[in-house]
Amino acid sequence: MAARTGKEFLDRLSQSRPTVHIQGETLTGGIQEHPAFRNVVQTYAELYDLQHSEEHKDVLTYASPTSGEPVGTSFLTPRTPDDLVKRRKAFKVWADHSNGMLGRTGDYMNSSLMALASAADWFAQANPAFGENIRRYYEKAREEDLLCTHTLIPPQVNRAVAGTQQAGGKLAARIVKEDDNGVVIRGARMLATIAPFADEMLVFPSTVLRGTPEDKPYSYAFAIPNDTPGLRYIAREPLDYDRPRHDHPLASRFEESDCVVVFDDVHVPFERCFALGDAELCNGFYSQTSSVVHMTHQVVTRTTAKTEYVLGLVTLLTEAIGIEQFQHVQEDIAEIITTLETLRAFLRAAEADAAVNEYGVLTPAWAPLNAARNLYPKLYQRFPQILRKLGASGLMATPTELDITGPAAADIEAYLQSATLTGAERVKLFRLVWDTCISAFSSRQALYEYYFFGDPVRMAGAYVKSYDREPHRAKVQAFLERS
Ligand SMILES: Cc1cc2nc3c(=O)[nH]c(=O)nc-3n(C[C@H](O)[C@H](O)[C@H](O)COP(=O)(O)OP(=O)(O)OC[C@H]3O[C@@H](n4cnc5c(N)ncnc54)[C@H](O)[C@@H]3O)c2cc1C
Repeated sequence: MAARTGKEFLDRLSQSRPTVHIQGETLTGGIQEHPAFRNVVQTYAELYDLQHSEEHKDVLTYASPTSGEPVGTSFLTPRTPDDLVKRRKAFKVWADHSNGMLGRTGDYMNSSLMALASAADWFAQANPAFGENIRRYYEKAREEDLLCTHTLIPPQVNRAVAGTQQAGGKLAARIVKEDDNGVVIRGARMLATIAPFADEMLVFPSTVLRGTPEDKPYSYAFAIPNDTPGLRYIAREPLDYDRPRHDHPLASRFEESDCVVVFDDVHVPFERCFALGDAELCNGFYSQTSSVVHMTHQVVTRTTAKTEYVLGLVTLLTEAIGIEQFQHVQEDIAEIITTLETLRAFLRAAEADAAVNEYGVLTPAWAPLNAARNLYPKLYQRFPQILRKLGASGLMATPTELDITGPAAADIEAYLQSATLTGAERVKLFRLVWDTCISAFSSRQALYEYYFFGDPVRMAGAYVKSYDREPHRAKVQAFLERS
């Protein structure tokens, strides 16, 4: 098989029967027709179609090492600097399509799977079968162009005690039984974005396990189809209200559902397991395999696209109402430009300083990517703040498409025109600004940027611990001692 088209993505989805609880209803399939999902699913279909467009197919695909057919570039194992550039360009094409608003396009998890499979020998330490399983799974995902989501953290019940101690150990997803051909999982995980329309669920290690005997049932990594019996999702209230694109320009295209994941005695066959009962292995899952580096390469490319979008938007906004010449407005625009150039510099440095890891994979430098992933969760919070400040009351003078074409049309033209735009044009622009900085969709975006990679506070702790500060400490110590 090869890189999918949008139709192939939708056809597969129509065969899938995931169990999704949403607004009091229980779906067992039919995701592509449900109002909460049909628009975002169409957007995902557009991404798959881009893989076949004349303009993008050379960047978005490469020849499969097994079939020779074109497969998605995010599966490409980078060996040369050109491979890394190709990967980044492919990430960018998809990120640009959603202005960086889609966090869970397939390339995010594909990047992880590529790195994990390259480090198959690392998995084989525990059991040679695990090495073989991850390699085979990656090839399957690549050849079938599967869309994967993942779920990592235990439910948020009482963070004062370890996941293993929640409700007497009866809450977080854990192995409750092992049989001749697999394990049985019971309990829950907190969240999985895009779960209702993904093909596969990757249930990977999360919070640092302590390696005590109690951790054993919570130490695992496996992948299962989205409609595995016993697996069910509880979706949050959708932020796509099925309103016209004019009125909700982002939510009507890019609303990725987030779901709680329940495992009701889900059977996972051994061939779908990559680690079992080994806390130490689980703790090194991302760092020892370079998986986190390749995921961050995708993430920083996406957030660069998002920052470019915000810069374009603020430019249109300030031109429209003639405020660009004021100094504090320029200061705000400069802040967005600085963020953009910082991200671009991080990406460039990560690629320029890439090195081959112990598994022969050309891996971007971690230091700049790590800096980027620690900065952006906070930097992004400023963008909606800036847009609200500069848009001011204009963000409330935002009638709907039906008003623009209805009885209020003449008033809108007369009173909502701007320095550079007609009334209708200005309302259209301001609805986009509104959906970026005020709507429920925009708040979820801000929360997503803050948390999706982990709690920034604990990430900062890990960052400080892992960063080699010794040369700098020694330098200052030497200065102190210089007579
Ligand atoms: C929109 C969105 C989408 C997401 N999508 C996914 C997904 O697809 N898959 C997935 O696996 N996860 C997903 N996540 C979850 C994400 O990984 C977590 O939000 C993140 O790891 C933080 O964990 P938490 O939400 O459980 O917060 P908590 O750990 O409950 O933290 C809540 C607050 O308490 C503080 N706190 C708690 N414990 C400690 C501690 N030990 N030390 C210091 N401070 C502490 C935190 O700093 C924070 O302020 C998503 C999150 C969001 C918001």
